[in-house]
Amino acid sequence: RKAEALAKRSADDLRSPICCILGHVDTGKTKLLDCIRRTNVQEGEAGGITQQIGATYFPRENIIERTKDVRTKVEMKVPGLLVIDTPGHESFTNLRSRGSGLCDIAILVVDIMHGLEPQTIESLNLLKMRHTPFVVALNKVDRLYSWKSCPNAPITNAFEKQSRDVMNEFDRRLNQIITQIKEQGLNSELYYKNPDRRKYVSIVPTSAISGEGVPDLLMLLVTLTQQMMESKLMYISEVQCTVLEVKVVEGLGTTIDVILVNGVLHEGDQIVVCGMQGPIVTTIRALLTPHPMKEIRVKGQYLHHKELKAAQGIKLTAQGLEHAIAGTQLHVVGPDDDLEDIKEEAMEDMKNVMSRVDKSGEGVCVQASTLGSLEALLEFLKSPAVKIPVSGISIGPVHKRDVMRASVMLERKKKEYATILAFDVKVTPEAKDLAEELGVRIFTADIIYHLFDQFTAYMDNVKEEKRKESADEAVFPCVLRIKPEFVFNKKDPIIVGVDVIEGIARVGTPICVPSQEMIDIGRIASMEVNHKVVDTAKKGQAVAMKITGTTPEEIQKMYGRHFDHQDELVSHITRRSIDVLKENFRDELSVEEWKLVVKLKKLFNIP
Ligand code: GDP
Repeated sequence: RKAEALAKRSADDLRSPICCILGHVDTGKTKLLDCIRRTNVQEGEAGGITQQIGATYFPRENIIERTKDVRTKVEMKVPGLLVIDTPGHESFTNLRSRGSGLCDIAILVVDIMHGLEPQTIESLNLLKMRHTPFVVALNKVDRLYSWKSCPNAPITNAFEKQSRDVMNEFDRRLNQIITQIKEQGLNSELYYKNPDRRKYVSIVPTSAISGEGVPDLLMLLVTLTQQMMESKLMYISEVQCTVLEVKVVEGLGTTIDVILVNGVLHEGDQIVVCGMQGPIVTTIRALLTPHPMKEIRVKGQYLHHKELKAAQGIKLTAQGLEHAIAGTQLHVVGPDDDLEDIKEEAMEDMKNVMSRVDKSGEGVCVQASTLGSLEALLEFLKSPAVKIPVSGISIGPVHKRDVMRASVMLERKKKEYATILAFDVKVTPEAKDLAEELGVRIFTADIIYHLFDQFTAYMDNVKEEKRKESADEAVFPCVLRIKPEFVFNKKDPIIVGVDVIEGIARVGTPICVPSQEMIDIGRIASMEVNHKVVDTAKKGQAVAMKITGTTPEEIQKMYGRHFDHQDELVSHITRRSIDVLKENFRDELSVEEWKLVVKLKKLFNIP
């Protein structure tokens, strides 16, 4: 059926490319969408732009009208452009459709006054990971000092109206940004100077306020998609459809918002969707699009359809969608299809993600809004620079049951893993309360890096606290030799000058004299190096040291009777002290110092 569908497709029957907008907060994504969406109301026509579920549809006629003054002409073969409405939402850029990105093309918005910002870089990485082609909208050009406004003009026309100074300033900023993009491993160039669109990212200067460059942007989106992915855009009868969001709507129950990328959906179609508890097999009860006059908030906001053709944003209702997972594929069961095969195919996405969970069962829980964003988060946590183990995953809001699952870690050795990293999802109040009660940490963020920063800061804190708690138990290894000419007090307390022969002498370290029966003489109470009080002294340093007995036996020990300068003094280590050292101070000891630990271990006959 698939082969048949593919054979029938042709360049004369293209679907609309799907586009999404992303970039750092406040770069103007929303404004740019508004600006693109603006219709020529003065001329008394709506321009055919239609509001869909989760997307806005721009028909061919509208784009032709808007781009008529752009110098580079293009023949429009696609029926229109479908722009995903939720800007800046990595989860949406990251939605997949049959292996590749749901979005055929993306607009990465960069504020010309700010250049590349953290979220811009994160977006860039996501686009690279998904191999999604994109253009850079270099927005807010109207903020260049003494910019002359040329509403809705193609950018080259607007540039001709600007003074030398404005253009110099523009060039300076453009070049900086080209360099920054280069630092991310990509070549870029102004779109009308681009020598090779497959090798250079095109930059379109825009203003979302006065509309300069917006015609160029529209034209470029059409040109690029037509040039670079004609075969991907050919209309086929096989359904290709991605779940955007799972929503409960009053009067409708649980609905799913989908983007129908290719093919046709009918009322009554049998469908299979990936669910948290396995494949969901159900039947489309209603295919809905928003009512054109949605300002009038009447009951029944939605138009019902018998069938809808790609590309479109659609809301659909069916039984049993509660556990559907956003970001997965919707499959239609055809008359010749084997339902079991399709069920397996539907769960494929989930399987891939599940395989990334740590087998040891120890690690944090992660939760995201869609399968795509969960994957991106897992990918990030796994990377060598981060390496945070994951024990559980979930999609959608954080509920009580998720907190319960994370709380299992409290009984393990690594309590700090009793943590939920929640990416771009809500936490229910009940879950929040329960987490507080049980001691489960929940970190939430809309940017992956922020989650990571929060978690690492937390881990550093935990480490520091553990260190403080165990400081008394940790014994640093050292070997000392007494200098007979510097014996100031022979007992109670012992005050002597010593050389640190090996390791680290640290205040609090229990000291003993290795002989047949290992004579404990007390703990290091204080130290001075060159008349300065110190907490630690390293190999090679000469130290004045006070050793105080902590038991009646130790207090009795005396220089000259129980030991003298011919004896070496060493740290008294134990199995427990080694474990504490390993767990909390691993990085503070050099390889040589760890070797000393091993040497002392033998001396003390510790297995
Ligand atoms: P988003 O967070 O990326 O969606 O950014 P918004 O669209 O909300 O814009 C952030 C702010 O920048 C708002 O105050 C906008 O009015 C302003 N803004 C957006 N685009 C432009 C532009 O092209 N020129 C100027 N001067 N301001 C802009």
